[in-house]
Amino acid sequence: MIEMEGHINFEDLELEFGYSCMPDRLHYYNKEENAFRMEVRKWCKDNIEPVADKIDKERNQDLAVETLKSMKPYLNIIIPEEAGGLGKGILYRTIFGEELSAFNYAIATIFGASSCLFAGPVIEYGTPEQKTKYLSGIADGTKIGAIGITEPTGGSDAIGGMNLRAKKQGDHYVLNGEKCFITNGSCADYICLYAVTNDQVKRHKGITAFIFETDTSGFEVVKDYKHMGRRGQPNSLLRFNNCKVPVENVLYKENEGVEVLMFGLDGERTFTASQYIGLARSAFEIAYRYAQRRQQFGKPIYSFEGISFKISEMFMEIELNRIATAQIARMLDEGHYCRALVAALKTRNADAAVKISQEAIQVVGGLGYSEEYPLERYYRDAKIGQIAAGATEIMKYLISREMIRMWGK
Ligand SMILES: Cc1cc2nc3c(=O)[nH]c(=O)nc-3n(C[C@H](O)[C@H](O)[C@H](O)COP(=O)(O)OP(=O)(O)OC[C@H]3O[C@@H](n4cnc5c(N)ncnc54)[C@H](O)[C@@H]3O)c2cc1C
Repeated sequence: MIEMEGHINFEDLELEFGYSCMPDRLHYYNKEENAFRMEVRKWCKDNIEPVADKIDKERNQDLAVETLKSMKPYLNIIIPEEAGGLGKGILYRTIFGEELSAFNYAIATIFGASSCLFAGPVIEYGTPEQKTKYLSGIADGTKIGAIGITEPTGGSDAIGGMNLRAKKQGDHYVLNGEKCFITNGSCADYICLYAVTNDQVKRHKGITAFIFETDTSGFEVVKDYKHMGRRGQPNSLLRFNNCKVPVENVLYKENEGVEVLMFGLDGERTFTASQYIGLARSAFEIAYRYAQRRQQFGKPIYSFEGISFKISEMFMEIELNRIATAQIARMLDEGHYCRALVAALKTRNADAAVKISQEAIQVVGGLGYSEEYPLERYYRDAKIGQIAAGATEIMKYLISREMIRMWGK
């Protein structure tokens, strides 16, 4: 740590990692939702804040996974009551995603991949037996889930470029191929996995969703990637060599996996949208506090329009994006079809997190660019929002297609 007169140490900002500068009772959440939010925030401050920096600096996957397992009180938020969960739905998931990501985005992503992206499609499409068998472990933290869509041949064109093959042989399928960039790939017990089951038809009609158990013979973690951000979150290249999956592990129906996949992506994009708010909020809070304490030209830099306008713009983005996130999450909980809105939300919130984390570094100046402050971590973490779960360009393409679907040409 730099000990120099005039410099402001990160610890001296006395951050709350929440809106200490904003009313805690946000009017777009009801009393119960707000109470949940404040409870989670306190839990994260006590349990996530102490390990957040260590996980990033050491790329410490073991500590990240251990921390996830310690989140027992919250791992079951969306799991149905009959499988040991609270059955709370998407809005609660976004509140949790925002709070958790304000402290550590990598841990929030491990949670998201397991408790939302794996569990979400199983809750919606699973048979009663599948729900009982696979969700209770996710709810109590003894099992970790993941979602496997992307392949070396299929990134943005995930469906058209899918090549993992599942050949039916009697009472099981035999899987061969690869998946890449899979969050939790090397620590997951279960993967919601998509594979081609009919290559004689267009891919949209020939893909099946499976619940895959990673202790299956022939499953191989080829490597974990070292990403610029979200450090500590396992993200893996996986290989499937003649892996046998029983027919009862088909999720929904054979060759109708694209429906499951698109449903899962809507859930993923809504959850990640809430994560970007959490990330942006922490960067904002540092910039806000710092600008009022840092003196230059005989005044706090907050008094200069060049700085205060940046902070006003951060406020505008965060607050309005949060209102939109809460509203869209409620609409999804009510069962509305919101694909274009979800894509728009994901894109906006991701862009805002990149911009805000970058501008926060600008406000803090040289210290912001250093590891004395976590802003460089937020900036590195934020960038993935414009790539994963559908890159920004693809989201805009999806929105343009949805407009034509809704309104015609
Ligand atoms: C950290 C991380 C975590 C991830 N987690 C998971 C996971 O858990 N499960 C999973 O299945 N996947 C996961 N992914 C994969 C992620 O969803 C893909 O990286 C993403 O969809 C983009 O695919 P790609 O990287 O192959 O890029 P490409 O598809 O090769 O795209 C490269 C660039 O070209 C642009 N582009 C492509 N096509 C077009 C077009 N038609 N018009 C305009 N621009 C275009 C893209 O927008 C992008 O900017 C993860 C990725 C990362 C990096």
